[in-house]
Amino acid sequence: MPHKITRMTSELSRRDAVRAAASDAVPAALADLGALVRIPSVAFPGFDRGEVERSAAAVKGLLDGLGIFDRVEVKTAVVPETGQEGMPAVLATRAARNGRPTILLYAHHDVQPVGDESLWESPPFEPTVRDGRVYGRGAADDKAGVMAHVGALRALIAALGTDFDLGVNLFIEGEEEAGSASFAQFLSDNADALRADVIVVADSGNWDAVTPALTVSLRGNTRFTLGVKTLEHASHSGMFGGAVPDAMLATVKLLSTLWDEDGAVAVPGLLERAAETPDYSEETLRSEAGLPEGVSPVGRGTILSRIWNKPSITVTGIDFPSVKNASNTLTPELSVVISARVAPGQRAADAFAAIEAHLRAHAPFGAQLSFRDVDSGDAFLVDTDGWAVERAKAALAEGYGVDAVDIGVGGSIPFIADLVREFPGAQILVTGVEDPHARAHSPNESLHLDTFRHALVSEALLLESLDATAL
Ligand SMILES: [Zn+2]
Repeated sequence: MPHKITRMTSELSRRDAVRAAASDAVPAALADLGALVRIPSVAFPGFDRGEVERSAAAVKGLLDGLGIFDRVEVKTAVVPETGQEGMPAVLATRAARNGRPTILLYAHHDVQPVGDESLWESPPFEPTVRDGRVYGRGAADDKAGVMAHVGALRALIAALGTDFDLGVNLFIEGEEEAGSASFAQFLSDNADALRADVIVVADSGNWDAVTPALTVSLRGNTRFTLGVKTLEHASHSGMFGGAVPDAMLATVKLLSTLWDEDGAVAVPGLLERAAETPDYSEETLRSEAGLPEGVSPVGRGTILSRIWNKPSITVTGIDFPSVKNASNTLTPELSVVISARVAPGQRAADAFAAIEAHLRAHAPFGAQLSFRDVDSGDAFLVDTDGWAVERAKAALAEGYGVDAVDIGVGGSIPFIADLVREFPGAQILVTGVEDPHARAHSPNESLHLDTFRHALVSEALLLESLDATAL
């Protein structure tokens, strides 16, 4: 890695130097990405924790190699509910100097399990380049996020030397895919080390492979198990059927009240957010979601407003005798898992309360309802007026050569609420290296090589501009 000792004097040449160094940093970043992909760092129960430790050690080695941090450590936190030790994260800190801001760079080094390996066209833990993409588990989500941070810092160092003024903290988590159980505890254990003016969460996506995006809203989620009981015990369906309700009869009628004729959510108290959305055609929806001709979309309003700004309710599981075990019986009780997405602007706890009240008010035939295993995460809205947002958009436009789009995401990153709670004054920028074809979490996950190059250059330019910003 070349180190230029002389500091550029003019702002323009300084930025040019960072941009050039960032392009130069791409091949080594991809080689290091390949080495990370070879480590099967799945943090799920039943997988080898040793691999997650190996992957944490590899990330620590990359950060040590930068030579700019006051401290680089592999650390864990305890999961408060269970008392168990969480998965190893890598924490690096470097204090800001001369009144410059501190940036916290987040990514995660754990990956999803590979699923059915026969569906992979090349081995999941063997990085393989085909058609301008590198394939492998974690090649995009989120080891490329790790390497975008490392590559951008290498570029900054190559252009400005190691004694720049920007404060830089890195938090490379080891259990994001497995639910971030010790995340909140890790934040509070290390609050002083992690504190920053700007936080970059590199774990989202772009509009497409050539158009960058800043994720400015994420829906929240609330998920629970609903129990429905109508009878004290099972009976022959010929004996009492027609005179007493079985649990499925009550459940079908109850669940049908959750949606209206258009398939839009019909629960009073669930809020929507009014916001403009980019054009997105029904044809694109059909192709991306796998919706056949003749089956209509659900909901109302622009398609992206339904996904980004309105609530949705999905039944994701049901315990009832299976088709194979079906007998002529009135089933006395059953359980349903209901998973709802919550519009940005509404607290997840309030959304759950609205759904619970609706279900209790509509329980048919006085069916007895129970609610358990409630799990909620809050939505997230970026304050797009922040000065760091403007810097990030300028850096993205320059790095990609195309203006950035503000996007919403229908899914949830619940730990962002933890970040907001712990660091209320920080500006949070949600970026990423993925494009719509990255297939994160699925077989044949891949990273678009041009997107990665642009993302790395953009991040280096953002670091440069923050290093030049007096608070
Ligand atoms: Zn991820």
